Amino acid sequence: MSMLITDLCILCGACEPVCPNEAISEGPELYEVESELCTECVGFYDEQQCVEVCPVDAVIFNPDDFETLEELRAKYLAMHPDRAPTGGWERVKEPVA
Ligand code: SF4
Repeated sequence: MSMLITDLCILCGACEPVCPNEAISEGPELYEVESELCTECVGFYDEQQCVEVCPVDAVIFNPDDFETLEELRAKYLAMHPDRAPTGGWERVKEPVA
């Protein structure tokens, strides 16, 4: 699963620089998460950084883009083959179904 930025987004831009995968960018109306790049911060942090910094709670788990923890780990390893994981290897927050 990747994260999803909802229309609560006020375009403050706080999430873009904190994403360790550079998955967030400003779209035409809202900031957007590129799902192919988002690992839900698996491999980096125990908490999703975009969720942590969003001042209006606009970032949620994308209900239409589910990935298991194993899939997220594999995604991380494929994107960062030379980097040892530093966090988030065990999911600390289960997505809300
Ligand atoms: Fe980036 Fe982490 Fe947010 Fe995914 S959960 S968009 S990897 S900051």
